[in-house]
Amino acid sequence: EHGVHEQSFIVTELYARFFHKNLGNQIKQYLQDVEIVLFLSTEAHVAIKFKGDRKTVKQIYKKLSELKMKVITKSWDLRSEFKQPEELMLVTQGFSSEKMKNKVDRFEVKNQCIVITKLPDKKVFTMGVSKKTQHGRSAHASPIKRKPHCKVAVPTYFEKKLIFSVSSTCQLVIKPYGDITKESSDILVSLLTNKVDLRNTRVGITFNKVCPTLWRILQAEHEAHPDDTVLTTKGQLNPLKCQAVCHIILTPWNITTSHAQLYNAISLVIAQATALGAKSVSFPVLGCGKAFGFPPSDVAQISIASLKSLILGSTLQKVVFLAPDSEVFKEFKNEASKHFQAINVVVKGAVGGVSPNEEKSNTIDDDSKEDNTDESDNDETFLEISQRDSESTDAEISITALNDSGIDNLWSILKKDIAKMCLHTKYFNQEIFDIWPNKSKDNILQKAKKLSVWVKLSPNPKTKKPGYVIKGEKDKVEKIFNKIQKEFTTCAIHLPKYRIKSDKAPRRGTTEFLKHAAGSDEQFPSYWELSKSTKTGILTKLKNKISSVKPKEPSFLVDVDSKTMDAIKKLIVKTWDPSLVGRGNDAAGLSHSSIKVIDVQRIENMQLFIPYSVQRNLLFKRLQMCPDIGKIHGSKGRVVTSEHIEDFMKEELYYEINEHYLFYGTQNPDAIISSGIDPRVSNEAGMFGKGIYTAEKFTKSDQYSDSRKQRSSPGTKLTVILARVLLGNAYLVNERHQSVASKQSVKLTRPPCVQCFKDVCNCPNQKLFDSVLGDGVWMFREFVVYEKSHCYPEYLITYERV
Ligand SMILES: [Zn+2]
Repeated sequence: EHGVHEQSFIVTELYARFFHKNLGNQIKQYLQDVEIVLFLSTEAHVAIKFKGDRKTVKQIYKKLSELKMKVITKSWDLRSEFKQPEELMLVTQGFSSEKMKNKVDRFEVKNQCIVITKLPDKKVFTMGVSKKTQHGRSAHASPIKRKPHCKVAVPTYFEKKLIFSVSSTCQLVIKPYGDITKESSDILVSLLTNKVDLRNTRVGITFNKVCPTLWRILQAEHEAHPDDTVLTTKGQLNPLKCQAVCHIILTPWNITTSHAQLYNAISLVIAQATALGAKSVSFPVLGCGKAFGFPPSDVAQISIASLKSLILGSTLQKVVFLAPDSEVFKEFKNEASKHFQAINVVVKGAVGGVSPNEEKSNTIDDDSKEDNTDESDNDETFLEISQRDSESTDAEISITALNDSGIDNLWSILKKDIAKMCLHTKYFNQEIFDIWPNKSKDNILQKAKKLSVWVKLSPNPKTKKPGYVIKGEKDKVEKIFNKIQKEFTTCAIHLPKYRIKSDKAPRRGTTEFLKHAAGSDEQFPSYWELSKSTKTGILTKLKNKISSVKPKEPSFLVDVDSKTMDAIKKLIVKTWDPSLVGRGNDAAGLSHSSIKVIDVQRIENMQLFIPYSVQRNLLFKRLQMCPDIGKIHGSKGRVVTSEHIEDFMKEELYYEINEHYLFYGTQNPDAIISSGIDPRVSNEAGMFGKGIYTAEKFTKSDQYSDSRKQRSSPGTKLTVILARVLLGNAYLVNERHQSVASKQSVKLTRPPCVQCFKDVCNCPNQKLFDSVLGDGVWMFREFVVYEKSHCYPEYLITYERV
């Protein structure tokens, strides 16, 4: 009775962890009046055995038990704590970082508590405690059912979905993202290889996951109709809400057969939809993935064309295409814009003449319109978070502490810490982002994806301006933000806010147009690679080009597309006259009958184009149409090159100020590529003085691509430049003109004065012509400008004489 009594006290799991971490000193204090037989303390197991006076031992045991009773655990559902859909994903990712682990460790020590986090997917943050730890849960915590978790789709778009009117009763919706199985259409379209196995395509896999019975229905259908290229499955398609799934069977891309195959498949789907009386159908973008390798542009073209021809007579009121990436989206957008009226195309970017206010109101308008058209879709959610039943949660954080610790307060502190670490938020407001090249956007998105940073279209809550929100771990968000700024700076160098050629431009050939063009800040033609391509590597190079002139920089040359190549070849053929070869002084030693074009490249030299565009702008600013070359008194007609060049090459060529493409033969193309055509080193003997002599006939320029005194041997590669020339207000000089007639007299030093027609005069308020047109008894006309900035060598033609 009064002897020595021995007592054990054991706690396990969550209690053990809590005791081990936080209560060691306290327990030791309790035990100072008794003999400790055993003191084992680990995270999993705290076992104490002590002996002493029976009464004392009992008291200590009571105290220890009370201590255990005081330990409480409270849990918070992370889904309701972080309401934005992306926040849970970011928190989940954040918890896998060392930094966060350290942060939570420190929080635990500081507040004498234990934090246990349960997070979706593989990235469950266990803090080294086994998942079975449920002991410390508060009484009303429900048993855990594990459910399929949140799959994190990476944000893939900056674009908004587009709606087009296909007919008075049918709309086409192009979405820049999406999961086909989430679509609410009557008919969903799936995609299969000819093995008819859902597991062989990305789209098939998605269907298979969502609707586990689908493969069996599909198999039965395939057995019944083994030769069909579109199989339709109906029946138990839970949880899909559609009436039927149409499975298109495709074979990998083949340029001769794929067009017909795809067209056929889409028409069968539309026919099937009509047979079922369906009102809507959703297509994934067909064949652009790895399994089939269809080029997005072809898919877009065929899809839109088939839709256009097949929609009449169908029951469909809505057709949806889901584009998996921005390239496909763009192709569909372009193709659809060609054929259909856009209903909600947001006026993006600073298209000429749109004030920021107009733009803003447009955007708001379109938003509300869009909301009305399609309320069922939740566009802002990339997260595919599975529906949870109310009793269970797969995203939860719990804090274990003593009940006098103010556990709710602890959570609010921790929540703030988590938000600070994982949900660092920055807004990016630049309007220019709307006209940002897709390549650059993709670069940023890829980088963001790598770093698990969230990028989403969202107005800045402070300024209310449209922009993008970037969210995630602080360092990573800062990295992405810097990248965006860096790309922005570079893009801004060559992305005009206000183009000459734009949808808002007034009719060509009017004073309004000149006014519009004069207000443009365009520096480079829109078709230039540097206007499109913004790969970081290229951008760095471009920056270097701006900051330092490097002569003979080979990358000034860009290969032209086949359309341009063909147009220029055609122009050469049209301006080639074999009957004139070898005739005239400058043609001495020439006897070939034809030429063969080897290559055409574009010279994209920013350093050189800028002064040219400044000069061009000055001509626009006069706000006066320059007289057509063909209408000048004594002229033999319009400029031949401009008569024969294809229309698309004239879109950014401005006849209003007599901007023309003209030929220039040269023996030193490298110098021209790097520093342009310099009139100061031109031929002294030129009939019209020191200027840049260009020609409208290739036959003429061919005379200057090698030396008259020593002609090159056959097969030598020669060059002629196709240059943009600003003739502006041209002055016609013929054989009767003084400077030409008296061969000895001083030649023209510059275009003459518009009042006295002399090139050097004493007129007050001197105004000069911009160029000289040599048009008289001569075989060829000469087009002469006297300033380097009046001429930009845009295309390098490499050819040989045959
Ligand atoms: Zn004068």
